[in-house]
Amino acid sequence: MLKPGARIGILGGGQLGRMLAQDAARLGFDVHVFTPEESSPAGRVAAGSVVAPYDDLDAVARFAASVDAVTYEFENVPVNTARTAGEHATLRPGLKALEVCQDRVTEKRFVNDAGIETTPWRAVSSAAEASEAVAALGVPSILKTRRLGYDGKGQQVIRKAEDAAAAFEALGGVPCILEAFAPFTREVSVVAARSVGGQIVAFPLAENHHEGGILRTSIAPASGADALASDALRIAAAILVGLDYVGVLAVELFVLEDGRLWLNEIAPRVHNTGHWTMDACAVSQFEQHMRAVAGWALGDPAPHSAARMDNLIGADVERWQALASEPGVCLHLYGKDDARPGRKMGHVNRLSPLA
Ligand code: AMP
Repeated sequence: MLKPGARIGILGGGQLGRMLAQDAARLGFDVHVFTPEESSPAGRVAAGSVVAPYDDLDAVARFAASVDAVTYEFENVPVNTARTAGEHATLRPGLKALEVCQDRVTEKRFVNDAGIETTPWRAVSSAAEASEAVAALGVPSILKTRRLGYDGKGQQVIRKAEDAAAAFEALGGVPCILEAFAPFTREVSVVAARSVGGQIVAFPLAENHHEGGILRTSIAPASGADALASDALRIAAAILVGLDYVGVLAVELFVLEDGRLWLNEIAPRVHNTGHWTMDACAVSQFEQHMRAVAGWALGDPAPHSAARMDNLIGADVERWQALASEPGVCLHLYGKDDARPGRKMGHVNRLSPLA
């Protein structure tokens, strides 16, 4: 177990690393960040940072040797980087989560084998296979690159069977997965944690609304969350145990008409749909993750308030002064200077009494 004053390293310097570092600092830890970015959101609030490419394994080894435990804030940390870090410090979560979740096909196989339902899918590695898969699964369907997609990037919706081969080429001819379009009524997510000792807790479900493939709003607890909670916890627990996971992860779920839950994807990290916990729970998802990494007892995930979280995307952040003057708004800005369209610049939480 790490005591206050211990050093925790984070691979990745984005806003998730920043918020992890802030909550870890509140628990008395010194956070050091490893990032290829010269001026990163996390590096600017951490006690220290190393700026080097992820494939500089000597730098990774020195970084890990200088801290007591290492975690990561995004799932596309190269496996070799995480492996090297794990040879010089305790790595939490471990490698398996990265190996499984970096590839949409491996992830779908893993969850289906664990008895978790997903939309029907096929692995696709050529234009001909794309056409065969669309013939098998029908339209509409979604072709996604197996690796490195996020915020709706690396995806093509296929509405006519004859468009399958062109969609595969448009994604660069890389290995893909075809997913049948899930007939969901809404999207929810569960953010759950597992401790070193195997304790599992979950925050209430959030209901999520996307625009252009990017999360816009989360509302938590989701309406009807109680009815879905035990199923969501079963799914999250199967994943946490199957990955031998220590830390926080998020599971994005489709809710079907009949109330069944289909898994969309796993995020082996803290997640945008858990940002509401920063102000509506005594222990946020960020503190929860750092508690798990440090080998501490997990915090109580019960919220004291309901919350609505709105992302500030691109130019939204220019409204910061108006938001800062609005009573009751909890404003979180990530310290990014370039407000490019589609870039997550911050978020706001608005609290209300629990129903
Ligand atoms: P993803 O990056 O896979 O989470 O996809 C981003 C968003 O696209 C999801 O939150 C859904 O709104 C939508 N989406 C992705 N896959 C599917 C699917 N198989 N069926 C219907 N909608 C989907």
